[in-house]
Amino acid sequence: MPLYQDPRVLSGEPISLDLLNTRYRDRHGHHDLIDTRAALTRWLVTSPQLKAYSDVYRLADAFAFTHIRRARDILARVHRDPHDDDNLTAFNALLVHGHPRRELTRAGLREHLDIDDPAHLVGYLAADDYLTLITDDPERVRVCDGDCGLFFHAALRNGRRRWCSNDACGNRDRARRHYERTKTAALRVVSAVE
Ligand SMILES: [Zn+2]
Repeated sequence: MPLYQDPRVLSGEPISLDLLNTRYRDRHGHHDLIDTRAALTRWLVTSPQLKAYSDVYRLADAFAFTHIRRARDILARVHRDPHDDDNLTAFNALLVHGHPRRELTRAGLREHLDIDDPAHLVGYLAADDYLTLITDDPERVRVCDGDCGLFFHAALRNGRRRWCSNDACGNRDRARRHYERTKTAALRVVSAVE
C-alpha cells in the first residue's frame, strides 16, 4: 500500500496543468485538492514531476501552502487573460525564484536548479512549464469541453482531443448527442406521419 493515494482525477499532465487541475468540478460540486496542508502534502508526494526533488515534504509548510496556492491563482489568471500587465508581472515574479545552472563534470553535463526557497519550487516549475507549453503551441493547452474545468495538453497524435477523459465528460457528451439525435429522429418520424 502506498503511503499516500494519488488524488488526481487526470494524471499524466505537465506540472503547470497538474497544478491548475487541483481545482475542478463534478456532479458533487467544486473540489480543491490542495485546500489544506495535509491535502497539499498528498498532492506533492504523489506528483510524478516532483519525484526528483528530495525536500518535497518540507514544501508543505505554511509558507509553501500560501505560495503554491497563489501560484495556481496566478497561472489561472494569466491563462484567462494573457494581455493583462498585472497578470504578466505576477507570472514573471514566479520565474525569478529559480535559477537553472549547468555544470561540466567528469561525467559530462550536469544540470541543477537552484531555488531561493523550497516554497517557490512548485510555482517556479509550473510557470516555467507553462511558458514552454504556450511557446511550443498554445492551441494544445486546452480546457475540457465538459463542465469539469480540467486542463490538458493535447498530444500531437491526438490533436483533436476535446475531453479530459473519455470515461467522464466525453461519455456524458456522447450520451447527450445520442439523445439529441434520437429526439431529432423522433421529430422527423412525427412530421412524416403528419
Ligand atoms: Zn472534463
